[in-house]
Amino acid sequence: MHEFLTAIQSGAPGDEIAAIPLPDTYRAAFVSRDEVDMFDGLASEDKDPRKSLHVGDVAVPELAPDEASIAVMASSINFNTVWTSIFEPLPTFGFLDRLGKESTWGSRHALPYHVVGSDASGVVLRTGSAVRNWKPGDRVTVHCNYVDDQSPSSHDDSILADNQRIWGFETNFGGLADLAVVKANQLMPKPRHLSWEEAAVNALCNSTSYRMLVSKNGAAMQQGDRVLVWGASGGLGAYAVQYVLNGGGIPVGVVSSPGKAELLHDLGVEAVIDRKEAGYKFWKDEHTQDESEWRRLGKDIRKLVGDDVDIVFEHPGRQTMGASVFAAKRGGVIMTCAATSGYMIEYDNRHLWMKLKTIKGSHFANYREAWDANQLVCEGKILPALSAVHTLEHVGDAAYQVHKNLHEGKIGVLCLAPEEGLGIDDPELRAQVGEDRITLFRRHGA
Ligand code: NAP
Repeated sequence: MHEFLTAIQSGAPGDEIAAIPLPDTYRAAFVSRDEVDMFDGLASEDKDPRKSLHVGDVAVPELAPDEASIAVMASSINFNTVWTSIFEPLPTFGFLDRLGKESTWGSRHALPYHVVGSDASGVVLRTGSAVRNWKPGDRVTVHCNYVDDQSPSSHDDSILADNQRIWGFETNFGGLADLAVVKANQLMPKPRHLSWEEAAVNALCNSTSYRMLVSKNGAAMQQGDRVLVWGASGGLGAYAVQYVLNGGGIPVGVVSSPGKAELLHDLGVEAVIDRKEAGYKFWKDEHTQDESEWRRLGKDIRKLVGDDVDIVFEHPGRQTMGASVFAAKRGGVIMTCAATSGYMIEYDNRHLWMKLKTIKGSHFANYREAWDANQLVCEGKILPALSAVHTLEHVGDAAYQVHKNLHEGKIGVLCLAPEEGLGIDDPELRAQVGEDRITLFRRHGA
């Protein structure tokens, strides 16, 4: 891949990049099929991604007609890489095997190793014969909605496709590597004012938050809406609060430390709750929730923003869902896309039906939503949440940070990019958006 890197760094045109031979192997972060039992008997928090994530050479796969291979300059850690690396709730090899049975091209994915990673920024190296809109040399980011466009179910809202998958989680050849293979309909233009690592961290979390809050498929937030955002300085939350602010809403950000509260204030979020300081105990014990604690949260929210919230941006799951359903206003919406603390959820249904609330599920985004969310990054209206940068060799440490909730925003991973700060093609736009704003999370994380 070294020749590609030299060409990319010297600004070589696409035909020169297309003429460089592809290597037989590439460096990648992967988990191994023969290690899926390695953490048996351990509690989730004791399962260590540093033990299960390996970095080594794997074979370059053949390219299908609707695919592109890209040189990955940078990638990021998403929580799905944590799930894959602790083999929870299931080892992801089952997903690969199912894809393997679907078609001849699908069978490439069922391998003894799973190359993980669902974000990337980089440069197109090759395109399959059916690819129309992209060519070698294009600078791109990648969204992770992996959709078979031959299925009728994918032609209204593609995330509803019956065989929809998340690239790098339910498929192989993901982004935490020097090379990745993606469908051409995952590609989007790289924001020209951002470095490779700043550009790499947005697509998964930014698109998910966009669909949950902005899209008509989500909460379709209105100006003036009050929105409770759990984990407001985390991967999803960092984009969610920006969408609330941009859309004329009033975010109430929940975090767990004074440092994270300060970061949110610097981002423009006035109403912040430090859940550790408040000491909420929504569960009295493993089986019983405490409604008086839900009420205390509701009171704290009203004290900060004058009313109950129209929307709850929910993803912690079991620990918070009872409180989230309670805290939403009459007629309000609880948007949920995850359950980090447990997926068997309990809430008091009386609060839901008597107050005509809605719980609405959401999962990533369709290509249109991901594209529109990426466009907002390209225009400098959504800022990258990059707070720390690791090299690919230290991908296990990076995943460990996210697993242990030791991070803010997003952790970037340098793949082919030899150092931070490279790949900025539009310094004028960068100056216009503001270096201080673009690097806000990075400075906090430093
Ligand atoms: P993240 O960067 O780890 O941020 C999550 C934040 O949630 C943490 O920073 C933490 O913030 C807060 N949190 C964690 N446990 C909590 C608890 N018990 N109670 C209250 N808050 C808690 O992760 P992320 O990228 O935002 O992802 C969050 C979840 O969404 C993960 O489970 C991920 O797999 C899922 N996800 C789903 C989709 C989808 O398309 N369905 C997309 C992206 C992510 P504080 O400690 O500061 O409160």
